[in-house]
Amino acid sequence: MIWHPFTPQLGADEPLKIFRGEKEFLYDADGKEYVDAIASWWTVIHGHNHPHVLSAIKSQLDALDHVMLAGFTHDSAEQLAAQLLKITGDVFSHVFYSDNGSTAVEVMLKLALQYWQNSGETERTTFINFDVSYHGDTVGAMSVGGDSVFNRAFSPLLFETRTFPYPTLGSQAEVVLTELEIYLQQHASKTVAIVLEPLIAAAGGMVFQSPETLARVARLAAEYGVLLLFDEVFTGLGRTGSMFAYDKALVKPDMIALAKGLTAGALPLAVTLIAEKIHAAFVSDDPTRTFYHGHTMCGNPAGCAAALASLELFGIEHRLDDVLELEKKLQVHWQGLAYAFPQKIQNARVCGAVGAANLIAQNEKPGYVFSAAKKIRQVCREEGIIVRPLGDVIYVTPPYNISDAALEKTFAAIGAALKQYEPH
Ligand code: PMP
Repeated sequence: MIWHPFTPQLGADEPLKIFRGEKEFLYDADGKEYVDAIASWWTVIHGHNHPHVLSAIKSQLDALDHVMLAGFTHDSAEQLAAQLLKITGDVFSHVFYSDNGSTAVEVMLKLALQYWQNSGETERTTFINFDVSYHGDTVGAMSVGGDSVFNRAFSPLLFETRTFPYPTLGSQAEVVLTELEIYLQQHASKTVAIVLEPLIAAAGGMVFQSPETLARVARLAAEYGVLLLFDEVFTGLGRTGSMFAYDKALVKPDMIALAKGLTAGALPLAVTLIAEKIHAAFVSDDPTRTFYHGHTMCGNPAGCAAALASLELFGIEHRLDDVLELEKKLQVHWQGLAYAFPQKIQNARVCGAVGAANLIAQNEKPGYVFSAAKKIRQVCREEGIIVRPLGDVIYVTPPYNISDAALEKTFAAIGAALKQYEPH
């Protein structure tokens, strides 16, 4: 039997068996249509089975299935690396391939630590992170995540970090930035890097941050000489309305991690983009300065071909324009729900192709295990809509080119679920 991810082994719903996907829709065995309102864990940015992506994968497979990337290279990996470096301007010089968001984050953390070792600053061992962050399920990625149900059981394995509250919207950000600066004044020389989900802490509850705050975090990193690592696994590739979240703050991180939307959901692939400053510390004939890290399937040709095709679609189908249009529509829809259910939801918010609101609770503590999440998921599923609330946070993150009709159906279903929700 399959042990499904993030799934209790008692009391969970039967998994929904999907047979086919097309555009924003998934279809079950009976042909019932579902709107994939969360783009299959935020990956399917152009909709399911986009012909341009599928044909690129097929052509690649006709020529080459796989070749390891240590000591070998191939066109798709080279072209994708070149394209990623091009679209990120002059910020990065190298691309390190892996196969999921967690590994892309692990690569960032390990490169950052070894960067300082190679530079002779071996006392730098502390990472700065933020409380609602989620960076993946491997041990390093869990260590820089905020304390949560995702990593609590594994706390004996996790390395220590200095954790600050995620500087979200409003006056709280000012307090956090001040505390961060005071910490850096005293401890910068022992600090490796600041690790941050820029603009949106996603799995932690779609917590938003302003570009101004992000810019100020970046300024602090530069001023105090610590590395700046952005986990753009969720926010990257258009999700916030610009190609990368850091574009909105006009800042230059030292590394970013990308996965999820990279292959438009078609295949597992991830990258870490690395600034030349980092890379330069590894240019040495001393073998102990080599980065001894790699994954068997890294740079998989079909994955790279899918990613190249996905990047092309941003040009061919003007995908970022779709995100900006979608942002306006999401605003209208969430405002409608907030107006209809003032006693049931609060803090409706939209950024790019992300819209979210918090369920109002009375006695129950908000958080990932919030009990109403399951019922909302069930009601929406009956209505033909796939959502997956993060506890008390209901959100939609659809394919960027979702149709108006599917969007309307999505919000009608969320409305139906909210009608049944009684804060307790
Ligand atoms: N970083 C962020 C911001 C994420 O949202 C996720 C996945 N939800 C990850 C890292 C981990 O990615 P993966 O599940 O592909 O390992």
